[in-house]
Amino acid sequence: MALRVLTVFAHPDDAEALAGGTLLSWRTQGAQIVLAIVTDGDKGTHNENEPTSSVVAKRREEQAAAAALLNAEVRWLGYEDSLVQPTLALRKDVVRLIREVRPHLVLTHDPTVWFRHGAYINHPDHRAVGQAVVEALYPAVKKANVFPDLAAAGYAPWVPEELWLAATDEPNRWVDISHLFEAKMNLLLTHASQFPPEPTRLVFRRLAEEAGKTKGLPAAESFRVIRLGPRTVELLAGHLHSELDDAP
Ligand SMILES: [Zn+2]
Repeated sequence: MALRVLTVFAHPDDAEALAGGTLLSWRTQGAQIVLAIVTDGDKGTHNENEPTSSVVAKRREEQAAAAALLNAEVRWLGYEDSLVQPTLALRKDVVRLIREVRPHLVLTHDPTVWFRHGAYINHPDHRAVGQAVVEALYPAVKKANVFPDLAAAGYAPWVPEELWLAATDEPNRWVDISHLFEAKMNLLLTHASQFPPEPTRLVFRRLAEEAGKTKGLPAAESFRVIRLGPRTVELLAGHLHSELDDAP
C-alpha cells in the first residue's frame, strides 16, 4: 500500500524549503502526497503596489509547478498570510483534512521554535500552524466526540502513525538528501517570486550540510518525529520498553 503523506505548512514554498528533499525521496518510492497550505501567501511581495490578486495568482501558479514535480495534490485553506492564529477554527479545518486524507505521516512546522541560526525570527504563521496541527492530532483527530459535526458528516476518526516537525532544534530523524540536493533546488526554485537562485542555493547548501553534520551526511534534512497511536498509554508503553531495550 502506498505511503500517504500530508504536509500542512503556512505558506506556498514552506514544504519545498523545509522538506523538499524528503518529499522527493518519498515521491520516488510511490508515496501519495497532499500539500495543504494554510495561507494564500498573499503578503509575499516586495512591491507594495502589486495587487493582492496578482500576488496570489503568481503564488498559486508557482505552487502548482512545485506540486507537479512531486506528483502531489494541493489544498488551500484560505487563511490570510502573516495573520494566522492557532484558533479552534483552524484546528477543526486540520482535523477535517486529516480525517479525509487519512495520511500515515503528517509534516508541519515545529511550533516551539522562536529563533534559528542567530539570524532568523521564526514566522508567527509557522508557529501558529504547527500548534494547530499538533492540537488537531491530539486528541481531536481520534475522538468522534470532539467536533461531532465532522463525524456526523462522515469524517471518521483517523490517527496517523507519525508527526514530522520540520525546521526543528531537536531533531531525532535525518533524511540523506545528498543525491537529491539539485532536485530539491529545482523544486524550490519553482517559487521564483520568493527565491533568487544564487543566494538560495548557497543558503540551502549550508543548511543541508549543517543538518547532516551530526550523522556524517554531506546533505540532509532533519526532523523531530513524534510517534502517534490510537491508545496513548499502550503507545507509550511500547515506546518506553523499546527505549529501555536500546539502552547500552
Ligand atoms: Zn513560511
